[in-house]
Amino acid sequence: MRWLILSAMTTLSLLIYAVTLHASYRTLRQQLLEQALDANQASASQLAQSTDTLLEAAQAQLAYSANLLATGQAHPGEESERLGRQTGTFASSWVVQADGRVLAGTPPKPASADTSKGTAESEAVMERRQPLIKVIDMPANDDPSIVVTRPIQTPDGRYQGRIGGTVAGSSLFHARPEERVATHVYLLDRAGRPLHPHGANFPAEALAEAARRGLSGSGALTDAQGTGWLAGYAPLRSAGLSIAILQPADAALEPLSGLMLRTLGRTLPFVLLVLMASVWLGGWIVRPLKQLAVTEHWESTIARERIEQVRTGYFEAEQLRQAMLEGLGRLHRRLRKLNRESITDPLTGLTNRRGKRLALSEWEAQQRPFAVIVIDIDHFKQVNDTHGHEVGDQVIQFAGQLMRRVSRSDDLLCRVGGEEFMMLLPDTSLETAAQVAERLRRCFAQEPSPTGEPISISAGVACWHGGGSLSSALTRADEALYQAKRSGRNRIVAGEPS
Ligand code: GH3
Ligand code: MG
Ligand code: MG
Repeated sequence: MRWLILSAMTTLSLLIYAVTLHASYRTLRQQLLEQALDANQASASQLAQSTDTLLEAAQAQLAYSANLLATGQAHPGEESERLGRQTGTFASSWVVQADGRVLAGTPPKPASADTSKGTAESEAVMERRQPLIKVIDMPANDDPSIVVTRPIQTPDGRYQGRIGGTVAGSSLFHARPEERVATHVYLLDRAGRPLHPHGANFPAEALAEAARRGLSGSGALTDAQGTGWLAGYAPLRSAGLSIAILQPADAALEPLSGLMLRTLGRTLPFVLLVLMASVWLGGWIVRPLKQLAVTEHWESTIARERIEQVRTGYFEAEQLRQAMLEGLGRLHRRLRKLNRESITDPLTGLTNRRGKRLALSEWEAQQRPFAVIVIDIDHFKQVNDTHGHEVGDQVIQFAGQLMRRVSRSDDLLCRVGGEEFMMLLPDTSLETAAQVAERLRRCFAQEPSPTGEPISISAGVACWHGGGSLSSALTRADEALYQAKRSGRNRIVAGEPS
C-alpha cells in the first residue's frame, strides 16, 4: 500500500510538473516572440526616424551648397569636396550642370536595367527641377545607396544644374548601436520588395504582403522553406520606402532553453520536496494500518492491548481500529461462552468432567490443597424405573441445587457421571469436607425430591494436601464411596488422611 500511495503520488506530481513546465515553456516562448516582435518594430520605427532626419539634414546641406553655387559664392569643385569632407553624411558628392555635364565629383552610375528605369524617373524629376531622394543599387551588387540631389537655381529662377551626394545604406543600417541577435535590416520599395540582395531564406512574399498592408507594424512570417521570421517595419517617409527589421524566430527563441533550464533548476527542489513529502505521507498513512495488522494472539488480550496502543492519526484508520476492537470484543465474548459451554454440564449447569480435569490440573500446578467429596445417588435406577427418565433427570437437577445450597462460592461442583457428582473444596480439611458432605446427605434425607419422596445419597470424602499423588487422593474418595455403599448407603465415609 505504501508503494501504491508512493507511486500514485509520484506519477501525479510528475504529471503536474510536466504540465506546469509545458505551460511555462509555452508562455515563455510566446513572451519572447512578442517581445522580439515589439523590439523589431520599435527598432524599425527608430531607424526610419533617424534615417529621415539624416536625409532631411542632407537635403538642407545640399540646399545651402546649391544656394552658394547659384549666387556664385562657391566653386563647384570646392563645394563638392567640402560636402564630402566637412560632414560624414555623404560617401560621395558631385555637381552637374543643366545639360548633364559633370562639373565636379563622381555621380553614381546605375548598375542594372532595373535601376536605369529609376534613372529615367530621376531624370523626369530633374526636369521638374525638384529635390530628390532616391535609392539606387550599387554596381557591385552591394547594399543600395541613397542618393540625395538638389537643383541649383539662380534667385531669378534659372535652372543651372544639380548638386548631389550619396548616403551609403550600409553606414545607416549596419552600425546600429542597439544591435540585437541576428537582426537584418532591409529597405523595401513601395511594393514591399527588398532593395538588398538576400538569400533563399527570406520571407519575401510574406514581408511584401505585410508591408503593403500597413505603414508600420510587426508580424511573424514564414519563408518558402518554412523558416519563421519576426519582422518589424516602418515607413521611411522622406524616400517613400519602408524599413524592415527581420530576425529568425529561432534566434529570438535562443534564450528559451536557458530560461527553461533555470526554471527547471528552481522548481526541481520543490518537486523533490513534494516527492519526499509523499514518501513521508505514504509512511504516515500506512504506519497505523501496519500496526493494526495484528496476526497473532487473537484469542488472548495481547491483541487487544496492541490494537488499543495504535495511534491512528486519521479518521479512517481510527474507524478501522474501533471496528477491530469491537470485533475482537465479540470474538472474546464468544470464545468465553464456548469455553464455558465446553466445561459445563447442560442438564445441571454444574462443571463437567472436562472442567473438573482442567481445575484439578490447575490446582495441582499451584499445589493448592483441597478436599474432594464423591457423591452417588442411591438406587437411582429405581427412580428411573418407577417415575420415568424425565423425573430421573429432574432428580439429577435437584441434586445439583442441593449441592449449591451447602457449598461456598469457591467450591467447584461437578457432575462426573449419570447420577454421580463430585465436590472439590479448595483449602478445606478432611473434617470440614466430611461435615459439608453430611450436611448435604441430611438435606437429601429431609427434602422431598421430584419423585415426591426424599432420596438418599452416599458419599466418600478424601483430601489432598498440595503434595503427593493427586489421583491417589481421588481413588481414596472413590474407595470411601464404595465403602459407604457397601455399608448400607445413605451415609458419608471419610477416607484415610494421606
Ligand atoms: P446404587 O448406586 O445405589 O448401587 O444403585 P443405582 O441404581 O444407582 O445403580 P447404578 O449406579 O448402576 O445405576 C445408575 C443408573 O442411572 C443407570 C441409568 O439408567 C441411570 N442414569 C444414568 N444417567 C442418567 C441420566 O442422565 N438421566 C436419568 N434419568 N438416568 C440416568
Ligand atoms: Mg452410580
Ligand atoms: Mg447410584
